[in-house]
Formats: sequence, structure tokens, C-alpha cells
Amino acid sequence: MIIVQIGYKNSEKSKNAPLVAGKKSDMPKLFMVKYLCRLYSGPCVELRKKRYLWGEYFDEGIAMQFNDVVGHAPLKERLLRAVGDGRVPHAQLFVGARGTGNLALALAYVQYLMCTNRTELDSCGECPACRKAAKLVHPDIHLVFPVGATERAETEGAERDDRASDILAHWRQAVLENPYLGEAEWYGVLDMKNKQGMISTVTASEVIKTLSYKPYEGAYKVMLIWLPERMHVAAANKLLKIVEEPPERTVFVMVSENPSLLLKTITSRTQQVMVPPIDAASIAAALEQRHGLPAAHAADISRMASGSFSRALALAETQDGELFERYVQLMRSCYANRYLDLLAWAEDAARMGREEVKRFVAYAIDLTRNCLMLNLGLPELSFMAGQEQQFGNKFAPFITQQNVFRIVGELSRLNEHIAQNANAGIVFTDFVLKLSQHIGPR
Ligand SMILES: [Zn+2]
Repeated sequence: MIIVQIGYKNSEKSKNAPLVAGKKSDMPKLFMVKYLCRLYSGPCVELRKKRYLWGEYFDEGIAMQFNDVVGHAPLKERLLRAVGDGRVPHAQLFVGARGTGNLALALAYVQYLMCTNRTELDSCGECPACRKAAKLVHPDIHLVFPVGATERAETEGAERDDRASDILAHWRQAVLENPYLGEAEWYGVLDMKNKQGMISTVTASEVIKTLSYKPYEGAYKVMLIWLPERMHVAAANKLLKIVEEPPERTVFVMVSENPSLLLKTITSRTQQVMVPPIDAASIAAALEQRHGLPAAHAADISRMASGSFSRALALAETQDGELFERYVQLMRSCYANRYLDLLAWAEDAARMGREEVKRFVAYAIDLTRNCLMLNLGLPELSFMAGQEQQFGNKFAPFITQQNVFRIVGELSRLNEHIAQNANAGIVFTDFVLKLSQHIGPR
């Protein structure tokens, strides 16, 4: 089996792990490649040969049918019935936390609206309208989303049209690769650091202009606004009238992660579709069927995912027996003050690459936090399952409000020192000796 390494250009290559390199904005694509390999061939066998799978998938458009959206059976039924009965609201607001699939659901709904051959259960997935919708290139589906200040300046500048279609292409790609895309991930694609995006008044004016034309092909014209909470106040005000009374056969589909930031004037003009957390059984089934995870592992992850498919995928990525083993060995040796074991642990850990250390630290902090929750008698806030749960039950009494900050502090410092290229051997030795002082019977 060949392990696929996903990394930026120029990052460390390991001999037997082909590096799928790319720009930061390529990261979602690279993860998709990894998932596809898993989907098609179990372990990632010779990624390079399988690489075409990505292109193939992209050309076909990614699944945007209701059937492909994880969970939400009652909600799907409601949406299907409304269209079937000819009760298509002129403005809907899909509201759901990141990872619940609010965008995926909205896209499936839009495709269903456009499909020329739909059944009572789903869009057909094959008619020209479906194909275009699935690639997000249907001429009657208009897409609006927040962008950063740089993009806004560029798209409102001299070469605005080219640049705008460029950014649209980025968004399409990001969504097609991950219909569970969240706001922060999108800003990551744009390399916006910690800045926040916005939907400008210029965009709002374009929306109004676009909607003044008749639909090209479809029975409907759809204006999909992702994250309307990022609309500039003036932009939102500009749109009020058209949202309230859109032209005939025009439908607004808004998708919000944080409706509390939306202007009341907008929410009051839309029909809300509340997208709840996904039920654990649906997440487990999807992990098993689409990502080839063993049933027990999928069930464990689904319980920890708190209804978010994004979190489930992230857990599937990082949940790794090796990290767990490393953590358990460390904590046991600390508890028993076995210094020789601790030094051996440090020596071994010092061989980890920088990214691995980062993952380990994130994992260790997470597990420590979960143990604290158990200790405080809050098992409902502790997301552990399987072997972690078993370990946590025994270890939780030793993670208390008194030592948890010291433990997390040592872990965070470890990460910082390694990130600063300090000598790994010295850093890890220092780390285990300090950590052991905070854990175990005193
Ligand atoms: Zn169709």
C-alpha cells in the first residue's frame, strides 16, 4: 500500500509516499483525490495512476441529487413535495451550521427545480439541465458568494469580467470538490488569512440586472446566495425589493451558516428551511458506503461528529490508531513517572515531521479536553468512542481543572517550538519531563 501525502509545493517529500503537491487553493481537490482513491481502490494504491479519476469525476459533475446529500430525509421529502405541488417559494433561506449540508441540500433542491425529467423522489441526474446544474454551469443558476477585499477590488476594476469569472471558477471547484464547504474553508481557498469576506453593493446591482433578463433554458431562474449574512448592509437594502417581489419564475435560494447576522428585513422576506445536525446513523452509513470505512469505525466517528459531515470527514482523516497509541504511551509513562520510557518516547516522537507533530498536538489536546469533560461529569460534551472511550473512562480522573491548562500549555508550547525549527530531540525531552510533573498521583 502506498500512502498518499498531501502537501503544498516544496513541502517535505518522503520516499515511499508520492507527494500530491499544489497550491494552497488546491487543497480541497487534493483531499478529494485521496477520497476518490479510497473509494475506488480501497487503500491509496499508486495515486499517480488513479489521478485521472479526479478529472473524470469533475467532468461528470459531482453528485448534486437529493440522494447524495447525507441524511435529512424528512427535509428532503418536504422540499420534494413543495415542488411537486407547484408551491415553490420565491425566496427560501436554508439555515444550518457548517457541516450539516445546508449548501449541499440547497444545490440538490436547485437541480431538482431545473431537472426536466424529475420524479417524485429526485432529479434524474441525466438530462442536460441536471448535467449543467451538477457542474454549476447552468445558465439560469446564478451564484453569489462573499469574497475578500482583494477580489472585490479586482472584480470592480478594469479587467473585472475576466477576474470575476476566475473567482467564480474557484468557487465552483471548491464546492464541487466539497459540497460541505464552510465559510472559513472558502476563505482559505482565497488565501484570505483571517479576514472576512463580503458581498458588495456592486454584486447586488449585478443581481438585479441579471434577474431583469428572462430565463435562458429553464422553467426557473435561480439566484443562489451563499452566506447572505456577509452582504454589505447597503447591498442587502438594495435587494430587499426584488427578494420580496422577484420577477416571474425567479427563485432566491439563500444558504446561511449564521442567520443571526442577517438583517431582519431579509429574513422576514424569506421562507426558512432549518437544516438540523445530521443524524449519526446517516453519517455512519455515508462513511461506510462512500469512503470505505469499516462499519465499527464509521459508527464511532459518526458519534463524535456531532451532526457535522465535515467533522466526520476530518475525523476519518485524522483518527488514526498511531496517534492514539502515542498518546496513551505518553500518558501512562507520565502517570507512573517512568523516566526511561518517557525518554524513549521522546526519542521516537522526535522523528515525527512538523505536520505530524501538529496533528499529534491537536489530537492530544482534543483527547485531554474530552477526558476533562468526563471528569467533570459531562459525558454529553465528551466525544470519544471505541478504544478512546475505554481509555478515557480510566484516565479521566487524572485530568482535572487544576492540571488541564498546564497540560494543554505544554502541548501548545511543544507545537510552537517544533514549528520554530528548534532541535526536536531537546524539545521533546524537555516536554516529557515537564509534562510528567503535571500528571499522576502527587
Ligand atoms: Zn434531470
